Amino acid sequence: MAPLTVMSETDTDAVVTIVGGGVHGVHLAVRLLQADLIDPNKLRIVDPVGLLESFRRTCRQCGMVEFRSPFVHHVATDPFSLRDFAQARGREDELRPTTVGAERPTTSLFFDHAEWICDRYDLESLHTDARVTAIEDTRRAVEIETTEGRISTRWCLLAVGHGRSVTYPEWATELISTQPVTHVLDPSFDRDSVGETASVGIVGGGITAAQLATTLSQLPGRDVVLFARSPFRVETLEASTDWMHFSGVIEKFHEHPPASRAREELVAEARYDGTMPPYVFRRLQRALERKRIELERSEITVATEAGGTVVATCQDGTAFCLDELIFATGFGSPYDGGLFRHLRRQSTLQTGYCGAPVLDDETLRWMRRDGSPSRIAVSGVAAQQVLGPFARNVIGARRAGALIVGFLESKLGAEMCETKP
Ligand SMILES: Cc1cc2nc3c(=O)[nH]c(=O)nc-3n(C[C@H](O)[C@H](O)[C@H](O)COP(=O)(O)OP(=O)(O)OC[C@H]3O[C@@H](n4cnc5c(N)ncnc54)[C@H](O)[C@@H]3O)c2cc1C
Repeated sequence: MAPLTVMSETDTDAVVTIVGGGVHGVHLAVRLLQADLIDPNKLRIVDPVGLLESFRRTCRQCGMVEFRSPFVHHVATDPFSLRDFAQARGREDELRPTTVGAERPTTSLFFDHAEWICDRYDLESLHTDARVTAIEDTRRAVEIETTEGRISTRWCLLAVGHGRSVTYPEWATELISTQPVTHVLDPSFDRDSVGETASVGIVGGGITAAQLATTLSQLPGRDVVLFARSPFRVETLEASTDWMHFSGVIEKFHEHPPASRAREELVAEARYDGTMPPYVFRRLQRALERKRIELERSEITVATEAGGTVVATCQDGTAFCLDELIFATGFGSPYDGGLFRHLRRQSTLQTGYCGAPVLDDETLRWMRRDGSPSRIAVSGVAAQQVLGPFARNVIGARRAGALIVGFLESKLGAEMCETKP
């Protein structure tokens, strides 16, 4: 692949390159620009689908109309930016009440505010429309291979979310590539293409399954069956609010070695995965009471596809003929996305249990095998062994942003002094 520009030995195309333009990537860019740490011409955000587009699309496909998190969690740095944005536009009614903490924004308010912030910092002008396929940490710089050419950068901030990794139950292995079977979190899933008179099965019992089932059940002509093997569990947030403070309780993680099984298990214990907040549960309950959704409590044990129809047989012997089977069974391992797999195989970077990156607890810099910190830092779900169960969330972006921009502040200042004649 041809280089994008010809460089001198000491120069690089960019000073900081952010890989991934989701909530985490956008927040990092905003922080860097707001702190005036970098010339915007030397900052890049590489993402193949556009800034915030992947998350916006996922929310739309799941039928999500409100955020689970409070209005102080958004992509800007001032915690009240989103509330002020709503007030200035007479959109206070889009801040929805909650039983814990501050009100929650509607999805459209959250994204309109995020877009406004992107415009304010002109982030679109920093965006490169490409997928990153390889990254090499060369000590002096980081070489990033993309579908549109190579970028040489001094610092690389990885913010790729789950990187297309999703989970299916074991019994579905043979079905995954068949036409009537999809995963709601797969980028190719299109809710609008679910057939008009289709009988639709949804597998899952958490927030995504509940939102999708209630949304599809409101459309005429759909028979919706929800396959939820366990009782529904209602939790306002994805974990206890204690974890949101990133101090005190978070020290529990740091008592264990980085990228260890013990840390991964602590994250799993702390997260309320498979739960839904009260407002989603109430909507689901109403749809069940009105018989718009059929609830199947037994687990599917065998499913086969023939002629565009899936026949699913449950443990209790009940069988269903379905035109579509949609999995809402969550994301896969954050360390199993394409880029992380590549980095694990090819690079001099340290990984641990299940391929988790070995990150420095203070700066989120990915450690090299020789024990020195690399020029790559990680924000998002892949930093969960440092930041805990909210690492992937919007609040996690804010914490990661503070740590990463904190260390970059001193590094960029020092590098500038070095390059001055
Ligand atoms: C349905 C749903 C609802 C949620 N609701 C909330 C909520 O209410 N509150 C909350 O705090 N959190 C919520 N979350 C968690 C949410 O995922 C995060 O807050 C946020 O989207 C994660 O941002 P991210 O930037 O890490 O990942 P993403 O939003 O997934 O962004 C990652 C970006 O990286 C890009 N990318 C991936 N691979 C590459 C590559 N190789 N090269 C270049 N770019 C790449 C992708 O295109 C994408 O744009 C929700 C999640 C889901 C799925």
